[in-house]
Amino acid sequence: MTLTIGERAAAMLAEAAAISEPGAGVTRLPFTPEHARANELIGGWMRSAGLKTHIDAAGTLIGRREAATPDAPTFLLGSHQDSVRGGGAYDGIMGVLLPILALEEFGDRPLPFAVEVLCFADEEGVRFPTALIGPRALAGTLDRNVLEMSDRRGISLRDALDGFGDPAAIGDIARPASTVLGYLETHIEQGPVLEAAGLPVGIVTAIAGIERHAVTVTGRAAHAGTAPMELRRDALCAAAELVSAVERICRETDQAVGTIGHLDVAPNVVNAVPAKVHCTIELRSAEDTIRTRVAERVAAAARDAAAQRDCSWQMERTYQQPAMACAPRLQDALATAIKTAGQRPLHLMSGATHDASAMADLCPVAMLFVRCRDGVSHNPAEYAAPEDMERAVVVLREFLKRLASDEDS
Ligand SMILES: [Zn+2]
Repeated sequence: MTLTIGERAAAMLAEAAAISEPGAGVTRLPFTPEHARANELIGGWMRSAGLKTHIDAAGTLIGRREAATPDAPTFLLGSHQDSVRGGGAYDGIMGVLLPILALEEFGDRPLPFAVEVLCFADEEGVRFPTALIGPRALAGTLDRNVLEMSDRRGISLRDALDGFGDPAAIGDIARPASTVLGYLETHIEQGPVLEAAGLPVGIVTAIAGIERHAVTVTGRAAHAGTAPMELRRDALCAAAELVSAVERICRETDQAVGTIGHLDVAPNVVNAVPAKVHCTIELRSAEDTIRTRVAERVAAAARDAAAQRDCSWQMERTYQQPAMACAPRLQDALATAIKTAGQRPLHLMSGATHDASAMADLCPVAMLFVRCRDGVSHNPAEYAAPEDMERAVVVLREFLKRLASDEDS
């Protein structure tokens, strides 16, 4: 019985998922025996698909297919092999395997550009307090001080990397931008948007920018029995208005999400009016200008909520990361490929960071999302259907053909 491409992808993912530390789900951390076994397995699949393999100085497994002419630029496809602890079988590694299956179609037929499938070592940042060293090394943006960082057993990244890559040569693998056409990352959506739209794949517009704030609302503690309602300065009631305001403002704004995920109440006892609330606000948007506007509206809402109850408030930005827009030309090529594959192209934002975030410093980037069951990810229950993965492979093939005809003309 011949397997469909989708069934083959599922079987390959199951085989890769078995390479894990013991326990529920997949735990495959960078520069470990599991990583070495995964590289061996995936490298074999790459070679069967006609790719020449090597591991670069940053520990990225690379499968390369030469172009029709030796000086042609390279188009990059890929994602990461590592997982979170107790993660799923699709996050990252699916974006390495589907391009391998897509490239089989081309056989010995040369394309006007070389193609490489990249299997990055570490995107999740679980083992070391850093991540994305593979794409950063390629983009020439790696801070070499990260090599001295240690995991929880005291092993430095430098020592862990030795034997996979070459820490001494990690500064030498930066690619000249002129040699790279672009980078396309295929990834499980990790959210519910495609499922809600009834679509197998979608085009990422941008990887969301993020900002975080620390907020303190200060009122006055009072006896829960003797303080009349109109004389209270209840900090939690003011903070509750702020929680509602963040939800309302972000619901009213396209391409923005906002979360108050942490809240501390003092004195936090049953019979005292709350005197102080510390909370966090996190805002994400595909557009930095939208995010800035949302933050201004949230700050105004916090001021009003505090003023209504005669509380004082403070809001301080603690973190900021700009949005990374996907290249319009590559998004268009993906849209054409999706239509050719008989699907409706849907554009959506990536709320999470990916290898593509770091690759954007090197070249134009794009991302293809694959529908995720129930939006569940970073969890053993993570699942993408074989039929959806097959559609993604068809889209990748059509995308490469489209790119090839653009390069030829
Ligand atoms: Zn991932």
